[in-house]
Amino acid sequence: MKIRKLWMAAALAAAFGAGCQSVDTTSGGTVGVERQQRMMVSAAEVNSGAEKAYAQMMAEAKKKGALDRDAAQVARVRAITQRLVAQTPTFRPDAKSWPWEVHVISVDEVNAWCMPHGKMAMYTGLLSKLQATDDEVAAVMGHEISHALREHSREQMSRQMGTQLGIGIVGALLGVGELGQSIAGTVADVTLNLPKSRTAETEADRMGVELAARAGFDPRAAVTLWQKMEKLGSSQPPKFLSTHPSHEDRIRDLQEYAARVLPLYQAARGGGAAAGR
Ligand SMILES: [Zn+2]
Repeated sequence: MKIRKLWMAAALAAAFGAGCQSVDTTSGGTVGVERQQRMMVSAAEVNSGAEKAYAQMMAEAKKKGALDRDAAQVARVRAITQRLVAQTPTFRPDAKSWPWEVHVISVDEVNAWCMPHGKMAMYTGLLSKLQATDDEVAAVMGHEISHALREHSREQMSRQMGTQLGIGIVGALLGVGELGQSIAGTVADVTLNLPKSRTAETEADRMGVELAARAGFDPRAAVTLWQKMEKLGSSQPPKFLSTHPSHEDRIRDLQEYAARVLPLYQAARGGGAAAGR
C-alpha cells in the first residue's frame, strides 16, 4: 500500500517535472539582464488568459464611458508606446509579432500596466497627477513592457504553483486544475494586483531605460519619474507603488543604467552611426 502510494507520487512528480522548464525569456541587451526562469505554466495558456481578461476590462471601461475619452491623449500615449514596441526585438525577436495594444482609461489613479503578450493600459491619473513628460511616460511604459517581455507574470504564477507543490503533490495538481479554469482571472490578478519581486523590478527598470533610450527618449527621465512617484507617495500612495514596490537602491541603480544607455539615446536622437546597435 505504502509502496503503491510512493510509486504514484513519483509518477506525478515525473509528470510535473516534464511540465517545468528553465528558460531565458529575453537576451541581455546593453543592460545585460540575464537570469534563468523556471516556468510551470505554458506561455500559450497565460497569453490567452491575458487576452480574455484584457478584452473584458476594456469592454467594462467602455461601458462606463472611461475608454479613450480624450483623442489627443490617446494619440500621445499610442505614439510613445509604438516607438518603444518597435525596439522590443532587441530583447526578443518574437515580440515583433505580439498583438500589442494600448488604451487610455479615465480613472483618477496613478497606474499603468502591460499584461502578458503586450496588452497595455495607461490611467489618466498617472498623466495628470505626475504631470508626466513624454520621456517619463516612456519610462513607465518601457518598464511595463519589460515586465511583459520577461514574462514576469508567468514566472510569478509558476512560483505560486511551485509553492503548492511543496505542500503536497496532489494539492498541486488540484491547484493546476483550478488555475486552468480561472486562468484569465489569475493573469489579471498577478499583473494588476500583486506586488512584483525586487528582482523583477530591477530587471524591468534596466530593460525599460534601454527601450526608452533606443526609442529616442531620455532614459534619465526614469529617475525623475520615480522621484515624482515617491513624493506623491507620502500624501496619496499611488496604486502603481503597491504593485511595483520601490526599494532604496532603485534611484541609484536607475541613474547608473540610464548613464550606461545614454549613448543609445544620443545615437537615436542624432541618427548617428551607432543607432540601433
Ligand atoms: Zn514594475
